Amino acid sequence: MNHFELKGGELFCEGVALADIAQAVGTPVYVYSSATFERHYTVLRDALVAEGVKGDNGGDPLIAFAVKANSNLAVLKTLARLGAGADTVSEGEIRRALAAGVPPEKIVFSGVGKTADELAFALKAGVAEINVESEPEMRLASQVAQSLGTRATIAIRVNPDVSAGGHAKIATGKEDNKFGVSFSEAERLYANAANDAGLNPVGVTCHIGSQITDLAPMAAAFTKMRGLVERLRGEGLSVQRLDLGGGLGVPYFNQPAPPSPADYARMIAKTMNGLDIAYAFEPGRMIAANAGVLLSRVQHIHERPGGRKFVVLDAAMNDLIRPAMYDAYHEIAPLKPRAGDPVVYDVVGPICETGDTFTRERALAPLEAGDLIAFMSAGAYGAVMSSEYNSRLLVPEVLVKGDDYAVVRPRPTYEEMLAKEAFAPWL
Ligand SMILES: *Cc1c(COP(=O)(O)O)cnc(C)c1O
Repeated sequence: MNHFELKGGELFCEGVALADIAQAVGTPVYVYSSATFERHYTVLRDALVAEGVKGDNGGDPLIAFAVKANSNLAVLKTLARLGAGADTVSEGEIRRALAAGVPPEKIVFSGVGKTADELAFALKAGVAEINVESEPEMRLASQVAQSLGTRATIAIRVNPDVSAGGHAKIATGKEDNKFGVSFSEAERLYANAANDAGLNPVGVTCHIGSQITDLAPMAAAFTKMRGLVERLRGEGLSVQRLDLGGGLGVPYFNQPAPPSPADYARMIAKTMNGLDIAYAFEPGRMIAANAGVLLSRVQHIHERPGGRKFVVLDAAMNDLIRPAMYDAYHEIAPLKPRAGDPVVYDVVGPICETGDTFTRERALAPLEAGDLIAFMSAGAYGAVMSSEYNSRLLVPEVLVKGDDYAVVRPRPTYEEMLAKEAFAPWL
């Protein structure tokens, strides 16, 4: 079921007309659907459980939502209440997860460049595991843990050297990417960690990329991961957890349809072939992308000599950078579609650079100045990547639940924006 639907010629999010939110909160604004977040989480969990994929102590597998996809506290709390954990990549994200009520034993700390301060914070918070990505990072984790009189519970991130995922900027599983260690290094590091006074190795992890729409590379990587677990156990080492990362694609409008959560779960059960271990997952986009939209208003339509029609919006690349950064395609849906033949438009923002283009030569229902539109599938890697570029106010966020909505990150005032900076004493 889709929770963003046209009803009586008007686009709704659950029981709320999106135009009402645009009117009350102003544009641009991100709007999220609680029911969609809940459905995506539940469908994935149920699919995994149905295939016998288990977590710690034979319970449900840990589904640690990748906070970097959408770190709004209200969104995190919506998922935490269903039992989700959090996959974090900075102290800031760990703090967000804790503030939203994610218990530390469901927080995974990932990332290639964790600082000593961040590691100390994670250890004091008691996170479930630190996914270490290199030998120097493992040594640092050990030093920090020993200075705190504790052991760091770690998993080793392996780079399975497979190609997967849409855009080159989000592929992470090839040997020449910065992520993880090779299988042979993983075996050596794991054995070293088992003899290190500051470390408690509990498992291995991989994450091969994002927006993956083909299960084959995942199955190839996961089969190699199973082999690694079996080899480590063969050497007498204890391996309790296997974290298979995120990366499952979502149905963006013009992309190949991604595998369903049921297909994904079946593939895992098949490749793991009864391997008895506690499984963890780090989905981001799959949970969040289609749970959010970015609303914007048409400022004017500018027709250039030669006939090119530019729709100039009040949203810009600072609010949604995916088209500029990843050549991403977002469906553009008018909130109240007008009748008439489609018109070919270039849709742009007001920022002073050509990169501020959302799409070129797209046929859309006719638009006029003042019309409201929604960028669909903007719930992941949307608001989290927004900035104040061009001194535009940070975009607000709204969470819908049924017939209610709440502003969960207000639009700052210009005074607040300026107050964050200071003059140097000599000025
Ligand atoms: C980004 C990331 C994820 C989430 O990826 P999605 O494609 O959004 O599912 C999970 N794990 C790690 C380590 C990541 O860096």
